[in-house]
Amino acid sequence: MSLGAERHSRGRILATLIAQLLLITPLALADNKPDLKPGYNFYSPREDAELGQEYSAQVDRQLPLLDDAGALNYLNNLGKKLVAFAPENQPDYVWKFRIVNSGQINAFALPGGYIYVNRGVFDAAENEAQLAGVIAHESGHVVMRHGTHIASQALVAEGGLALVGSILGQRGNIASQLAQLGLGLGVDSLLLKNSRAAETQADEVGAYILYRAGYDPHAMAQFFQIVARKYPQRTLQFFSDHPNPENRIQDVDKEIAQFGAQRAGNMDDSAFEGIKQSLATLSPPPERKGTPKIDAGNHPPPLPSESVTHYQCTMFALDYPDNWQVQHAEDTLEIFPPGGMVTGAEGETSQAYGASVSLYEPQQGKNWGLIDATQELLDSMRQSNPQLQVLQQTGMTLRGSPAVSTLLQNDSPVQGQRETDHLVTVRRRDAVLAFVFVAPAGSFQAYAPTFDKILQSIDLAR
Ligand SMILES: [Zn+2]
Repeated sequence: MSLGAERHSRGRILATLIAQLLLITPLALADNKPDLKPGYNFYSPREDAELGQEYSAQVDRQLPLLDDAGALNYLNNLGKKLVAFAPENQPDYVWKFRIVNSGQINAFALPGGYIYVNRGVFDAAENEAQLAGVIAHESGHVVMRHGTHIASQALVAEGGLALVGSILGQRGNIASQLAQLGLGLGVDSLLLKNSRAAETQADEVGAYILYRAGYDPHAMAQFFQIVARKYPQRTLQFFSDHPNPENRIQDVDKEIAQFGAQRAGNMDDSAFEGIKQSLATLSPPPERKGTPKIDAGNHPPPLPSESVTHYQCTMFALDYPDNWQVQHAEDTLEIFPPGGMVTGAEGETSQAYGASVSLYEPQQGKNWGLIDATQELLDSMRQSNPQLQVLQQTGMTLRGSPAVSTLLQNDSPVQGQRETDHLVTVRRRDAVLAFVFVAPAGSFQAYAPTFDKILQSIDLAR
């Protein structure tokens, strides 16, 4: 049963040869198709579609879908027009596009062509090319088969090729095979956690689709950058599902330069504007405050109160929910809900929910820049948090001062959970003032509106 892998490696050699051939004859080709090949995969495209069907049935029950015929029609027409230009498209893929009734700016793709675009994307996109960019990027995950590639990696990691043989040999339903590997379906499934390499590949496919369909191929990478800057809290989920490749814009630009002559741009935004306006007249998406998801045995904190208490010190002031409390721990101010501090095995307490503020003095003399100083702070945080991972970093302004917004993931003090951290750093005299907003990864979205409110209330002393 290791035949699959062998056949694949032969495919790899062939792909490498073709790539080399392309490298020595780059000039003559007008419409240069980038060398995009899916990673190793033990499944067939038909199995991608089969998995996607079962998976989407589950997701449809988990998420609030928007049932608006006009918008769905528009999205499906646009989506089908775009995927007609996708490389490696397979006849087995179904290409169904759905709208999630959520204001969060997010989109995701399931294997086999089931693509979900949040209503928040329509809201934030400035033109059809940007929306097309999101769809094209997600289509890239489908045609590069990233979901079943992750499943294939899990198969190998779990038991090596012998297990691959025995599991695939059962010829059962692919979803039940994955369940044996502990890979569940659902909105938090590991199958949706793409690597940076997969994101870069989806960017490449996306830019290529846009280019061939007559849109500005830069629109996708630009949209990701614009929304990260404009709506830091509304995009956190997106960037935790989609680790942001470093140098995304430059990489995409490099790719685009190889496609060939610029095509005539698709500039008619009238249909897009019409849909955007009609969505704006519908009742707003339900706020997903819900009960934070926590493992049984822990007590999730009560919901943050809507009314606030004011906190002020010499360096800054802010408002926080009035059912939270404030505590000074060494040089850090911690603001947290009841139950937001977790006691570890050795009696130490760590913050699992809430906000904290601390002052960091960079070691690199007086002429430091905020980005370098933030990097230094992250390095020092990593010494006590080896699992700390940067997902995304962008510039922003905090009360008129330049600031750096960094989205992080780390192990949570809540057992068995990962946490999401949003770090905002700003320079104050010779030090960095660092605001951190934290919650277990599964609950971060529920806390985002509260964190947003605190962030907006911050006042910096002059
Ligand atoms: Zn992606």
